[in-house]
Amino acid sequence: MIAGNWKMNGLRSDALALARAVADGVKQAAWTDRQVLICPPATLVMAVADAVRGSALLVGGQDCHAKPSGAHTGDIAAEMLRDCGASHVIVGHSERRADHGESDALVRAKAEAAWRASLVPVICIGETLDEREAGDTLEVLATQLKGSIPPGATAWNTVVAYEPVWAIGTGKTPTTAEVAAAHGHIRKVLATLTSEAAGIRLLYGGSVKESNAAELLAAGDVDGALVGGASLKAPEFLAIAKAA
Ligand code: PEP
Repeated sequence: MIAGNWKMNGLRSDALALARAVADGVKQAAWTDRQVLICPPATLVMAVADAVRGSALLVGGQDCHAKPSGAHTGDIAAEMLRDCGASHVIVGHSERRADHGESDALVRAKAEAAWRASLVPVICIGETLDEREAGDTLEVLATQLKGSIPPGATAWNTVVAYEPVWAIGTGKTPTTAEVAAAHGHIRKVLATLTSEAAGIRLLYGGSVKESNAAELLAAGDVDGALVGGASLKAPEFLAIAKAA
């Protein structure tokens, strides 16, 4: 899976052009061995889903509330994303964990909400630079996984994204050996949580671009990428999907 996280970027005209260009590329490539997903801001999910309908391009949200409805001003339920044409939703992105104080328990509740609405959550975990420098990376990942993945995760209903916080939007990436070590560890911890650990897709995220995609995607236990900045340019995003 190659997933694009547009973050808080995009107004209708340019966003729809971007989505259509990605959908055209996906259509032409006619891949049968990979999924391509774009996650626009909530304001654009419905328009983007309508614009790409009929192509194999998947559309997701960037966050959802844990509850299906109610007095939660400004929030969006997983059911609302589904209603707009989404099939996936990112939960626990480090920017939400940092900007909105989201805990592992809340991320887990959001993943359960995604399942309730028949969405596939892309559950994000990752260590900060301080945690890496203190040698705590693997422990932090294990704690986040155990806290954020609800019981019942399967290869079909869950995607996990490893995103070192220090690599997001910085142009810095871990070495392929470091990525493989983190992903191998994640797979092992997942195996303590579900019998389907081998089939759960583990995406690497953090400064993936056309020039480093093939190398990062070739690292052990990497089943795809979660792409931020480079997903805002159709040719570059499609080149990353091709590299997979
Ligand atoms: C992200 O926000 O999920 C991300 C990986 O961003 P970038 O690719 O820009 O580092």
